[in-house]
Amino acid sequence: MSSNLTPLQQGWKDNMMDNYGMPMLGLVSGKGSVVVDEEGKEYLDLLSGIAVNCLGHQHPAIVDAVTKQLHTLGHVSNFFVHPQEIKLAERLIDVFNSDQPSRMIFCNSGAEANEIAFKLARLTKKRRILAHEEGFHGRTMGALAMTGQPSKREPFAPMPGGVEFFPFNDIVALKELINKDADDVAAVIVEPIMGEAGVVVPDDGYLQKIRELTNECGALMIVDEVQTGMGRCGELLLSRAQGVQPDIITLAKGLAGGLPMGACIATNEAANYLTPGLHGTTFGGNPYACAAANAVLDTFEKDNILDNVRAMEKRFVQGIENFNSPLVKNIRGKGLLIGVELTAEVAPKAMALAREKGVIINAPRPSVIRIAPPLIITAEEVDKALAVLSDVFIQLSE
Ligand SMILES: *Cc1c(COP(=O)(O)O)cnc(C)c1O
Repeated sequence: MSSNLTPLQQGWKDNMMDNYGMPMLGLVSGKGSVVVDEEGKEYLDLLSGIAVNCLGHQHPAIVDAVTKQLHTLGHVSNFFVHPQEIKLAERLIDVFNSDQPSRMIFCNSGAEANEIAFKLARLTKKRRILAHEEGFHGRTMGALAMTGQPSKREPFAPMPGGVEFFPFNDIVALKELINKDADDVAAVIVEPIMGEAGVVVPDDGYLQKIRELTNECGALMIVDEVQTGMGRCGELLLSRAQGVQPDIITLAKGLAGGLPMGACIATNEAANYLTPGLHGTTFGGNPYACAAANAVLDTFEKDNILDNVRAMEKRFVQGIENFNSPLVKNIRGKGLLIGVELTAEVAPKAMALAREKGVIINAPRPSVIRIAPPLIITAEEVDKALAVLSDVFIQLSE
């Protein structure tokens, strides 16, 4: 490959730090669920910027809202408040729907949202933060400290202290860990479905059991909905749809439909831990990101996007089941966050073959394919994607 770089890839190689490895493609435009590379080839985008572009590319609602906002008021800093910010905050707190008063803070990424949750946990004055092995919460030092993947953490030791890990979906292990010093547990953090670990779904009731244990020991329950939230799983918040009321939830990825934005919402006592001077970020809650997020919520309502998510989930799952491929071990996930577990470690190969045939998927694990398309994907596009994936699976099992 490296002898054969496109101009954008060569530019990458010459200028960019190598933290991501060589990009698969250089992309120059996109519309709806389709993106176009620098050679003019079109791809059906079943990754949507890693579960970010919930309304696809160039959605008129986002284009109009951001354009209008830039023509009205640009960046203002946090010395000032503006209408889009308050409108969005009211809506998100409404979505969170806690029975206690809630407050929120905007930021610019998922890692940053979890960084805020980490700081809130510190403000309890308790020391222990319990997180999941294989979990993923982002790359800044606090978020990384809670990320249960040693290969990502260890090069940056020493980490902020106090974080301990336990296996996902293992409520007995959590109970034992808590009981080592229950009075000193500040928080337990959990992803409703572990996205980066390969779309790993816990047993029904897992979040509820964490809620019961954290209530018993007086710890905060932090739910990282950065990937699962904002409609991705067919609900605005998966934890709330499951009847669980966390103390803190974090959002990002799809929140502003492709613009960089994160949020941390807290309820009850945790909503009041931050006082003037304790946290801030220059771009957090900026007018055009808020305008985009408001446009996302408007469009969800107006176009019944969550219904489409559930319908397209069924279509994908049935379609893949109908392959009857010996390569498919199981299909898991919720909504349009779908993981296809394979019987062999050929997910990277599947990703490359699909790309050649004009479909973008990714491989969060060597034996897992992730499908996370725009939430506006049409039945016709799903069928097109399924035809390609069927070919890919046949080719791989030969
Ligand atoms: C992507 C992700 C993050 C990190 O978000 P960034 O915007 O990349 O910092 C955190 N938590 C979860 C669950 C994620 O999927």
